[in-house]
Amino acid sequence: MKVNKNYQNIAQSYLFSTIAKKVNEFSEYNSDKKIIKLGIGDVTLPLCKAVVDALKSASEEMGNKETFRGYGPEQGYDFLKDKIKDYYAGHSVKLESDEIFISDGAKSDLGNILDLFDKDNTVLVPDPVYPVYVDTNTMAGRKIIYMDANADNDFLPLPNENIKADIIYLCSPNNPTGAVYNKEQLKKWVDFANKNGAIILFDSAYECFITDKNLPRSIFEIEGSKTCAIEFCSFSKMAGFTGTRCGWTVVSKDLIFEDMSLNKMWLRRQTTKFNGVPYIVQKGAEAVFSPEGQKQIAQNLDYYKENAKLISDVLTKHNIWHIGGKHSPYIWLRCPDNMKSWEFFDYLLENIQIVGTPGSGFGKNGEGYFRLTSFGSFENTREAVERLDKFLK
Ligand code: PLP
Repeated sequence: MKVNKNYQNIAQSYLFSTIAKKVNEFSEYNSDKKIIKLGIGDVTLPLCKAVVDALKSASEEMGNKETFRGYGPEQGYDFLKDKIKDYYAGHSVKLESDEIFISDGAKSDLGNILDLFDKDNTVLVPDPVYPVYVDTNTMAGRKIIYMDANADNDFLPLPNENIKADIIYLCSPNNPTGAVYNKEQLKKWVDFANKNGAIILFDSAYECFITDKNLPRSIFEIEGSKTCAIEFCSFSKMAGFTGTRCGWTVVSKDLIFEDMSLNKMWLRRQTTKFNGVPYIVQKGAEAVFSPEGQKQIAQNLDYYKENAKLISDVLTKHNIWHIGGKHSPYIWLRCPDNMKSWEFFDYLLENIQIVGTPGSGFGKNGEGYFRLTSFGSFENTREAVERLDKFLK
C-alpha cells in the first residue's frame, strides 16, 4: 500500500496554534488582564429566530410518520434551490435550478470540485490567500503559481498574460484582506479565462457584506462568466451557519471543456460521493430567505458592520493604512513603524491585550500586515477600539 505522498508537501500551518500558544502563555502570567480577541474568523451571534423556528418545525416533521424523509436529492431540495435562484435574480443573475447545488458549506466544495480537473492542471492563487485553495491542490499534487496581491494593486491582482494557469482562484470580498473586485476588474478576469480556456473558482462566501450596489456580489453579474466560472457561496457568514453547515455551488450548464459538461460531471460526482445536506438544515437555510429571515439576518450583518466601522475609524484617525471593513468583516492594516506581523501581534498582546491575526500567516505578501475581524461582540470591539485609540496616540 502506497500513501499519497503529496501530503508531505502540505505546509504545516502553525498560525492559529501559535496564536493560541502565545495567548495562553500571556494569560498564565497576567490573569488579571482581559484579553480581547479580534482575530476570530467565526461568527458569534446566534441563529436568527426565523431559522430556529424552521429548524424546530422540520425536526417535528422528521419525527412524524407522515412527514418523515429519508435520503434526499444529493444536489439539494428544490425548495431551497428555488430560493437561491430568486436571490440571484435579485441582483440580476439568471440561473436555472439545476445549476445550483446545495452543499454543507463552501470549504467542502472548494476542495471537492477538484475531482473534476486533471492532476496536471496548473493553479493560480493570490498571495496572501485563504489556505484551503493551496492545501487542497497540494494534496492532489498540482503545481501552484502565486500572483502578488499587495498595496500597489490594492490587494486585487489582475490578469497577467505572462502568467497562465488552468485553474484560477478569486475570492471577493477577500479573506484575509477584505478587498473587493469591481465589475471592470472581474470582467478582465472573465475575458482572460475565456481567452485562455481556464476556469475561475470564485469564492463569494462574504458577498452578503457588500452594500454598494455597484460592486458585484456574484461573478455571474459579469458578462461571459457562465462559460468560465464556478461560484461557491455559503450561509456561514450570511446567517451564522458555521456550526449548522449549509452552502451552495453554482456550476453553469455552459461550462463545456474538452466536450464534457462540468455541470453533468459535478452532478455525477455529488450523487456518487455525497448524500446531501440534512432536510432539517435545508429548511433552516430556506427560512433565511423569508421576509422575517431577511430582516433578522440584516440586523446581524449590520451589527458586524458597525463593529468593522468602529475599527476602521480608529485606524483612520491614527493614520494607519488599511483596507476592508466596508464590504467585509475583515480589516487589513499595515503594521505601524514598519513592524513585522508577529512583532505587532506581540506588541498589541503585551501592551493592550488585543489579539489579531498576523498577515504573514496568509502568505509572504502578508508580512508587515495584520488582520482584525468584526465578528466579536459590540462591547468587546468598542473596548478594544478605546484601548487602540489611547495606545496609538
Ligand atoms: N471561503 C472563505 C474565503 C472563507 O473565509 C471561509 C471560512 O472562513 C470559507 C470559504 C468556508 O466557509 P464554509 O463555512 O461555508 O465552509
